[in-house]
Amino acid sequence: MKYRRLGRTNLMISEIGLGCASGLRSQQLGPELFNRYREELPAITHKLLELGGNFVATSASYHDTEEILGRALKGRRKDVFIFTASGKKDAKAVIADCERSLQRFQTDVLDGYFAHGGWSEGFQEAAAKLKQQGKIRFIGMSCHVPEKHRERIEANQVDFILQPYNYMNLAKWTEKTDRVGTEELFELCRKKDVGVMVIKPMTGHFIPNWAKKTDDPKVAWLLKELKVSGKQNLYQAFLMWVLKNPNVSCAIVGMGAVQDVVEDCAAVTKKLTASHERLLEQYAALATGDYCRMCETCVPNCPAGVRIPDILRFRMYYQNYGHRRDARELYASLASHQQASACTGCGRCEQTCPSRLAIVQKLKAAHALLA
Ligand code: SF4
Ligand code: SF4
Repeated sequence: MKYRRLGRTNLMISEIGLGCASGLRSQQLGPELFNRYREELPAITHKLLELGGNFVATSASYHDTEEILGRALKGRRKDVFIFTASGKKDAKAVIADCERSLQRFQTDVLDGYFAHGGWSEGFQEAAAKLKQQGKIRFIGMSCHVPEKHRERIEANQVDFILQPYNYMNLAKWTEKTDRVGTEELFELCRKKDVGVMVIKPMTGHFIPNWAKKTDDPKVAWLLKELKVSGKQNLYQAFLMWVLKNPNVSCAIVGMGAVQDVVEDCAAVTKKLTASHERLLEQYAALATGDYCRMCETCVPNCPAGVRIPDILRFRMYYQNYGHRRDARELYASLASHQQASACTGCGRCEQTCPSRLAIVQKLKAAHALLA
């Protein structure tokens, strides 16, 4: 394992740590996989520590992962930094979440406590209190939108951030039209000494739509390549690419099996070669037209108020994860003016989307699946 400094926290954290959003993914895939994941999580955690990993990151809302990790880490508290989060906006609710997290982790103090999915006055008030009481050491935020991180960094309110970043961020795939680029955000973090924890280092699209198009020669080539060289080559390439950025402190990786930990941790000692780059290039070329980064750049540009990234995410749950009922229920929970049926086809969203997605056509397809 290798270690890097997490900005002003001065924590020396491992380049690879355990993220727990995989729990959500396996829940979406069904109770059997979800339970298997929950059963494997202690062994996954132990393997990570054995290989030199020294942090876990989860959230109060990620089912019972805090409790499972708390039990798994019993007697090993000093070997690990704990990062967890609250997505609540009210100060009292954030404090209640934090107290529960401390109990679940069986500890007196959390190393990093972050606002899950965006900042709020309530979180700020609660975090200040919790820090004063010695219940949390450092404050952070997770969010998909670089600009929202920038506001908190400039206001000097965060010690670390959790930001999605992966090979698909390259300018050639995004055309760099998002309002604040991720690379620029990381540069700002360096200047302000804010730690950068990367989420979704392998894109977050687990079973891409393109992989089903096996009659496409490019898809066939990539699948064959992965069969010959091993799928871990692609995953490691994603991690190596993220970690070659010196402004990145670590990658938070969802790992569903002990073998994943072994393969993912091996990436820190490997070198990104031309053949890895070729794999990434091929993957990105196939995925780019269908990859929503959930950056929300399109949202303020939609005069109708359609929740584009949410709808594309629900479509992903339906099509890629095969969890149709959940996807439909989530879609139904949107107000009618936020659903795809409210889209007038004006095209403004497509003009601002950094990934140049054919949003209007995708919304129509999503509505047909989800309504
Ligand atoms: S095309 Fe539809 S979703 Fe896009 S901005 Fe116009 S109304 Fe909104
Ligand atoms: S559709 Fe495009 S702009 Fe909107 S969230 Fe997805 S990637 Fe970002």
